[in-house]
Amino acid sequence: MKVPMVDLLAGYPAIKDEAEAAVRAVMNKGNFILGEEVAKFENEFAALNGSKYAVGVANGTDALRLAIVAAGIKPGDEVITTPFTFIATTETISQSGAIPVFADIEPDTYNIDPKSVEKKITKRTKAVIPVHLYGHPADMDPIMALAKKHGLKVIEDCAQSFTAQYKTGGKDWKYTGAIGDCGTFSFFPAKNLGAFGDGGLVTTNDPEIAAELKALRNHGSKVRYLHDMEGFNSRLDTIQAAILSVKLKRVLKWTEMRNAAAAKYAAALKDVCETPVVRPDCKHSFNYYTIRFGSKAVRDNAQKVLTESGIANQIYYPVSLHLQKAYARLGYKRGDLPVCEKTQDTVFSLPMFPELTGEQIKAVTDAVKDSLVRKVSV
Ligand SMILES: *Cc1c(COP(=O)(O)O)cnc(C)c1O
Repeated sequence: MKVPMVDLLAGYPAIKDEAEAAVRAVMNKGNFILGEEVAKFENEFAALNGSKYAVGVANGTDALRLAIVAAGIKPGDEVITTPFTFIATTETISQSGAIPVFADIEPDTYNIDPKSVEKKITKRTKAVIPVHLYGHPADMDPIMALAKKHGLKVIEDCAQSFTAQYKTGGKDWKYTGAIGDCGTFSFFPAKNLGAFGDGGLVTTNDPEIAAELKALRNHGSKVRYLHDMEGFNSRLDTIQAAILSVKLKRVLKWTEMRNAAAAKYAAALKDVCETPVVRPDCKHSFNYYTIRFGSKAVRDNAQKVLTESGIANQIYYPVSLHLQKAYARLGYKRGDLPVCEKTQDTVFSLPMFPELTGEQIKAVTDAVKDSLVRKVSV
């Protein structure tokens, strides 16, 4: 049985009529750039996420880019982040003129380790960008405490974590993206809330940052053709916003479906490999379902068996950013961030999307089990 990483059409029938009507409504109004659907979606998103403001932008990378500028990060500043993430997290730091500084990760959640962050703080540190990797919240309390102590900004990269909860069960629980100074989100189709194309958004509770973001996405202007600063052309498409409003109503249900699929995976695989840790005070959004093996050889063999059986699988991420050619200039070498390096060599991710069927889950878990007793060469 073939199982894809993500089946973007599996959820389409349920929203087809509403989504197509929403797109048609925009086409009939012709208000394509920053039409009223954008503000409507921003308000709905902010309300769901428990953030005061939400500013739609062109994609999740631009969400980071604009948040970095709006947070006041300047050329030469140091920004501490994780090397175990997609390069968008760090491209946007470098391209703003700032310097990415890599901290190591925690061995159970694969998120940035606050203890390692503390060791990397210098006089030039201006911000920390934790990434809620795969949809598991980073340990925000100690990160926020460090930020307060050292006067740092915190930008949460929530591209994989929309609807994930931190300190869930307690009275001060929050969704990711409502904890730091800004939260950045991606609506790339395969994320928890996917558009029919690119899209992104920044959340914040700070009215000044929100106003700055709105100007930055529109060439820096608050009043048309008047520019107190330069900005970007990075607006969320009205058509995408209309579709996202339709999908937003279902996103919590989809997270429950992802969690249900994750529970089935864990039940079948708990004695076979390391299944994802969910800390007791966290709710996972399961953008990815990532398992870990005892060694690189066992992991690599499992990947081959799955691929041979038609089961899609992917390593997020095979080469940590501190070891990528693009960052050779920063001078890191193997051995510098040992937890991260061990993780990149032993993990891979299984198919994950809300509509994953019991049959598909069985095919995937059977192939993983099979890989432990069957060696594949090539
Ligand atoms: C997807 C992703 C991004 C970038 O989002 P785009 O919308 O593709 O630009 C940034 N950070 C992380 C961790 C991501 O997974």
